[in-house]
This record gives sequence, C-alpha cells and structure tokens, in this order.
Amino acid sequence: VLGAGSNVLVRDGGLRGAVIRLGAAFGEITQTDETALMAGAAALDVRVARAAADASIAGLAFYRGIPGAIGGAVAMNAGAYGGETCDVLVEVEWLDRDGEKHVSAMDALNLSYRHNGHDGFKVYTAARLKGARGDKAKILAEMEAISDKREDSQPVKARTGGSTFKNPDGADPTGLKAWKLIDAAGCRGLRVGDAQVSEQHCNFLINHGVATASDLETLGETVRQRVQETSGVELQWEIKRMGEARA
Ligand SMILES: Cc1cc2nc3c(=O)[nH]c(=O)nc-3n(C[C@H](O)[C@H](O)[C@H](O)COP(=O)(O)OP(=O)(O)OC[C@H]3O[C@@H](n4cnc5c(N)ncnc54)[C@H](O)[C@@H]3O)c2cc1C
Repeated sequence: VLGAGSNVLVRDGGLRGAVIRLGAAFGEITQTDETALMAGAAALDVRVARAAADASIAGLAFYRGIPGAIGGAVAMNAGAYGGETCDVLVEVEWLDRDGEKHVSAMDALNLSYRHNGHDGFKVYTAARLKGARGDKAKILAEMEAISDKREDSQPVKARTGGSTFKNPDGADPTGLKAWKLIDAAGCRGLRVGDAQVSEQHCNFLINHGVATASDLETLGETVRQRVQETSGVELQWEIKRMGEARA
C-alpha cells in the first residue's frame, strides 16, 4: 500500500505483486464537530493542517511540514515538533484483504514512535482526528514557524526520503539523536554514486539525480555500520524499504 511515497525506498528490481494507492476520492476532509475532522487517507498532511487551521482547531499544525498523506501518517505514527499522530487520532477506517470495512479506535493500533503495531494487512481509508478549540491566527503562525524551521534545518527542496533512521530514544526531545550519531561517525557528506548523506541534516540521504535504490541502501547500511563501530548504537531504518534488488 502506498500513500504519497514519502517514506519508502523501492528497490531497483521493483515490487512483485499489486500496489494499492488510494485516489483523489479518498482525499476528502470534513469537519465532524467543533474540534474534529474526518480526513480521507489520501488527503495530504499539509491540507489537513490547513483545514484544521481554517476550522480553528489547534493541535494539528505539526502536519504542516510532513510531506505524506494521512494513511501514511497513521501507518507510521508520523509526527514532528512535539506532535504525533497518536496524540490526535481518535479512530481509523480500514479495509481488510477481502475488502471488508472496519473501524478501529486509536488504542487498537498500538502506536509508538514511528511505529504502528496494528497486526495484519490493511488499507487505511480515513481517520478521525481531534484537536482543541484554538485561535486561527495563532495556528497559522505556528504553521508558518514550523515551515521556516524546516527550511532552515532540512534539505526540503532536495530529493530525499526524510529522516532515514529512527532516533534511538524515540520522540524524547532530550534523547539520543540519529543525526548526531551519524555526524560523530564522520558520515556527513558521505557519498555512494549519486547518493549522499546531506551536509545540512545528516539523517537525510539525498539523491543528486541518478542514484539507484541500491546506492541509497548501500549508503544507509554503511552509515549504520560506522555508527555501530563508533558509538555502539544500532540505528533502525525509519524509511520502509520494499521490493527486490535488480537481478
Ligand atoms: C522531506 C521529508 C520530511 C519528512 N519529515 C517527517 C517528519 O517530520 N515526521 C515524520 O513522521 N515523517 C517525516 N517524513 C517521512 C514521511 O513523510 C512520513 O512517514 C509520512 O507519514 C509517510 O506518509 P506517505 O503517505 O508518504 O506514506 P508512504 O511513504 O507512501 O508509506 C509509508 C508506509 O505507510 C504505509 N501506508 C501508506 N498509506 C497507507 C494506507 N492508506 N494504508 C495502510 N498503509 C499505508 C506504506 O505501506 C508504508 O509502509 C518526511 C519525509 C520527507 C521526504
């Protein structure tokens, strides 16, 4: 199942089997009460942040800078700048392999830092998200500040899959950061072909144009190995790698 594809690396041999990607009909966002929205799984996170601001619903501004869709946000428990999907998700609608529709409350998903523990195959189709009454101007200012912070600290205009590895201590703002470990291991700017560890933010891998998935994965694995050697920490991929290597 693909959302916006912002957190996946498809190997060069492609995927064997069917790929499901929800179309525009799943992108609707409707306000269901004073503080809640129902967002189709194909609705982009940024649109959800804007819709929440328009409805004066606070608490969803963190979606402003995440370049995925809501189905992907639920599947990844996406979050940033102090907010996570599990903080705002009430329930989710999903289809099983037979096309049967289900509704699950947030607790059933066992969400934790960039992890969804909802067992079995499923296609999320919509999510009910709840915030709190807020002031539209303040929410818009918060979104603007988030956008500015990202532009300053991340290569947002480059071809990248965002954070490559999870922070070892999860969302804890005082915990170990993957980028610091990568920097300490001397990997800032490291290259494999056209793939490079970003000079601006070491947890981002950049494709300068013709990097293959294999270049990116080899670079990521080299970084993991060097971090393991220098700090003893085993980084976990946040990017979902799928498919087969080219034969
Ligand atoms: C520049 C950049 C910045 C980023 N910043 C952040 C950040 O601050 N915080 C953060 O958390 N992430 C960040 N990401 C990563 C990514 O945007 C998020 O993980 C996002 O939630 C993925 O959503 P997507 O729709 O692109 O999912 P995809 O990348 O398409 O898929 C990701 C996973 O979700 C599954 N999935 C997607 N849609 C569905 C569905 N409808 N039903 C079931 N499973 C589904 C896929 O099978 C896959 O396993 C960033 C990425 C980039 C490129």
